Amino acid sequence: MYLLNTYARFDFGFERGEGSVLFDAKGRDYIDFASGIGVNSLGYAHKRVVKTISDQAGKILHSSNIYRIKPQEKLAKQISKMLGFKTFSFFCNSGAEANECAIKLARKYGATNFKYKKFEIISLANSFHGRTLATLKLTGQDKFHPEIYAPYIDGFKFYGSIGEIIENISEKTVAVMIELVQGEGGINALDKSEVKCLAKVLKEKKLLLMTDEVQCGVFRTGEFVTSKLYGIKPDIITFAKGLGAGVPIGVCVSKKEIFEPGDHGSTFGGNFLATATALTALDELKKLKKSGKIDKQIEIFNENLDELCAKFPKVIKQKEGLGLMLGLVLHEGVNLADIIKLAAKNRVLVLKSGTSTLRFLPPLNMKKSEIKEGFKRLQKALSEYKI
Ligand code: PLP
Repeated sequence: MYLLNTYARFDFGFERGEGSVLFDAKGRDYIDFASGIGVNSLGYAHKRVVKTISDQAGKILHSSNIYRIKPQEKLAKQISKMLGFKTFSFFCNSGAEANECAIKLARKYGATNFKYKKFEIISLANSFHGRTLATLKLTGQDKFHPEIYAPYIDGFKFYGSIGEIIENISEKTVAVMIELVQGEGGINALDKSEVKCLAKVLKEKKLLLMTDEVQCGVFRTGEFVTSKLYGIKPDIITFAKGLGAGVPIGVCVSKKEIFEPGDHGSTFGGNFLATATALTALDELKKLKKSGKIDKQIEIFNENLDELCAKFPKVIKQKEGLGLMLGLVLHEGVNLADIIKLAAKNRVLVLKSGTSTLRFLPPLNMKKSEIKEGFKRLQKALSEYKI
């Protein structure tokens, strides 16, 4: 292989997909409970997504951001409308870039709004915010800060609980970044009253609350933003993954206009292809939500996961998560990698989270028949696991 060795890959891959089913080169079908990693929110070869991409390719894919880009402006307005409050958006190509933008916004806010410069950003233990050097340092897991890549960017701290974050807000602190449902360090939904308390404290101190909704946003937990489920209106929200239904896009959304020309930029960010596709994806997801189908899928997934918990009590300890961001925490000693391999052997795709959680991030428009078949295969995989 001529690829840098960054992933522990399976030795198979896919040629095409249809609905929530993927097909390998031999035509074997795999039920997808993973959506890439929470990316393919509308499954594969979705008719309107395909048409948008093809129509847009026939017109214009890219122009520089020094010119006006209509679908980009429309998407920024649509995001603000769906949030229900006025926001300003910066478009980029990934979750890490969206978080980089959030870091810069917070730093500029901290440098220009207080008597003494504030720059420190606090995150939560077990969080994950990206793979650039700054977002790695923002990530609250020491294993992501190995000495080999040092020196890192300064000005980040992380604590084990929201209570500790509040206690440790200092005169240097400008912002707190949280994932309302953590996705990489285990599926951990934060406590609603603690989050509300943090929001209140930050507001009183005129500091910024930033939510990383790269994984848990865009209807993943049942609402456009998970912040809505928590009853908060963050100062800055970042999205990526599911927003482009497979086309790379990230966005950092801010309640305050903080930047001026020259402060930040991205060559590809917010181009015609990505923003036109995201507009279609949002429209389709909104319709799915309105029709009750997303809520129904959440119900069906929960029923099936509860059934697995009841059937395999020696393997599965408990269910975690919100909406369609769900996890099965396995008992100590159960080999997570082996279970994922058995699932793949039975042609159902699931993910890991942390060291002991089987993670589910299915497309948000799965057919009942696809869900049924996927859980049938997963039951078979779990029954093949030798304790
Ligand atoms: N933030 C969260 C919560 C994520 O889950 C991820 C990726 O898994 C990122 C940021 C980084 O996103 P990307 O891989 O698109 O840079």
